[in-house]
Amino acid sequence: MEELNTETKKAEPDPASKIIGLTGGIGSGKSTVAKFIEDCGFPVYYSDVKAKTIVNDNEDVKQKIKNLLGDASYDKNGIYNRKFVGEKVFNNDELLSQLNEIIHPAVRIDFEEWVERQTKYLVFKETALLFELKLHLQCYKSLLVTAEDNLRIKRVMDRDGKTYREVESVMNNQMPEKDKIKMADYIIYNNTNLDDLQEQTEKVIFEIE
Ligand code: ATP
Repeated sequence: MEELNTETKKAEPDPASKIIGLTGGIGSGKSTVAKFIEDCGFPVYYSDVKAKTIVNDNEDVKQKIKNLLGDASYDKNGIYNRKFVGEKVFNNDELLSQLNEIIHPAVRIDFEEWVERQTKYLVFKETALLFELKLHLQCYKSLLVTAEDNLRIKRVMDRDGKTYREVESVMNNQMPEKDKIKMADYIIYNNTNLDDLQEQTEKVIFEIE
């Protein structure tokens, strides 16, 4: 009887990690929060960074993109030609959505494989498009980082050397903050300094637990 119990216990799978979707608009501070989360010992999957590597590393994705947009989507060394692809899909919603239908499922599979390898009970998925792509529906909870528009613009201008207008135009093409605030389970308001941001991040992780 004793032995049987041990057997049964061993056969039980570990409970799946709870996935927390981490998001925020341009310059909100979500990557900074992600780093603080990693400092706390929790793994973060960087979807947008990963998507950029997948278009270069995944042969199936590469072929599909070439079929959709032409061989010039990759240079002679087989490296993704972001400029060419960007120009092709610019102002062409149909092509853009077809391109996304190639890239997003590949990122999803890569993420699922990554989650399988994690051992922490909380894992974070950082993505700018959590709500836009309805990815929050696949998460246990969502965490939004937000800040006042002027602060976000200034921070991106300082970080990337972009003009006020350039940042503002990206911002205006993203889902409005008020809509994201309604949808998020947890919100970090990043309107002060990095110490405060770190403190809020640690507090939220504790609350999720
Ligand atoms: P994007 O979507 O554009 O990649 P993001 O949401 O990931 O942006 P971060 O890169 O984390 O934003 O932050 C934008 C810039 O603002 C970075 O240079 C970061 O160091 C800085 N920053 C973020 N939060 C603060 C803060 N509270 N005080 C000062 N600087 C900050």
